[in-house]
Amino acid sequence: MGYSLVCKDCGLRFKDEGFDFSCPNGCSGVISTRYDTPLQPEGSGIWRYINWLPVKRPNSYDLTPVLLRSDPISSEVGAEVYLAFHGYFPEMGAKLLTCTFKEVEAVASLRYAGEHKRDIAVASAGNAANAFLRFSELEDIRSYIFIPERVFGNLFCERKSENSKLIIVKGSYDAAQDLARKFSRLKGIAYEGGGLNIARRDALATLAYHFHERYGFLPDEYYQSVGSGTGAIAFYEGSKRLIRAGAAKQSPKIVVAQNEPFAPIVDAWNAKSREIAKDYGFDPLEVVYAKVLTNKSPIYSARGGLYDIMSESKGHGVSVSEKEAKSAGNLFIKAHRIGLDPAAEVGLAALLKSRANGRVLLNITGAGYQRLKKDVKIERPDPDWIVEGADDLEMIR
Ligand SMILES: [Zn+2]
Repeated sequence: MGYSLVCKDCGLRFKDEGFDFSCPNGCSGVISTRYDTPLQPEGSGIWRYINWLPVKRPNSYDLTPVLLRSDPISSEVGAEVYLAFHGYFPEMGAKLLTCTFKEVEAVASLRYAGEHKRDIAVASAGNAANAFLRFSELEDIRSYIFIPERVFGNLFCERKSENSKLIIVKGSYDAAQDLARKFSRLKGIAYEGGGLNIARRDALATLAYHFHERYGFLPDEYYQSVGSGTGAIAFYEGSKRLIRAGAAKQSPKIVVAQNEPFAPIVDAWNAKSREIAKDYGFDPLEVVYAKVLTNKSPIYSARGGLYDIMSESKGHGVSVSEKEAKSAGNLFIKAHRIGLDPAAEVGLAALLKSRANGRVLLNITGAGYQRLKKDVKIERPDPDWIVEGADDLEMIR
């Protein structure tokens, strides 16, 4: 198989049986992959690093984020700033058709499901849904995508795959997650697992290998806006694999950004707490500008989660206001003539208000939606079902 799974809590190593991202000992540590062979880059896109992905063969997806050093952002920040540009802007070579890094996660997750011959149920606050709707066509399985009603207006697709089914949940993101999980049990299909899915995280970890291969070093600091924290954890895990293999010396400080007034990770970190506050007294989807950052149950407290990697890497958290985010977005348009997604604006705003040092990598998690609209006809995908509670799940075929 070429890899085994390791529990970040008890250290148990075990075999991957497919879609069981929890420890056989019953502890709650994050489950990570441990690859048996050194990294052997070959080919292009994420599949260039396939021997450090939990799949055997690639599918036909061959797009990739674009790496560049940004002189204008560097001079604003006063450090050497590199961008991992996930989005659509062909002039730069960036062609992600759903405009965000969730596309990379979804494609690898679909490949993993395809190889295990399992239909999946997945919950999303928007970007992952777009990606699963579009790219389910790559694999011969069916994906059931559950989204909260409030983000339906943000969905878009230039071609919805026949293999994907869209289920609108009348409720919060948590409700969508809960129903996706219940549906998977009811139908005996796999619960996709979100950020706990090893295929998703290892796909995002390829950014560390890509960056290291291109520049010959890892950044001193890594900035990203986070909802679940999947991308930041993945970049750290990827860095650690390179260090373990002797290819790199030190992992970057992991700095995560969130959008006020809902910044549970940053608030917990600043309070030096491993626990996330249970309730903010409002549904963040109703008040937060960058809606994709409203995950109430991020991968923070569990061993191997954000609390641990921010501690180990001497990183920190930064929260920014909507005003700061939009102002960062305007700066980026002046610098690179590309519109950022709200979440990417939050990441840039956090970098601008931090005292970053040395070589910094900013993950531009989503951008270029307006540019995409010029090239392709996009539309809102039709929902296949609208559900309110568990009783409605029976009708889904
Ligand atoms: Zn364990």
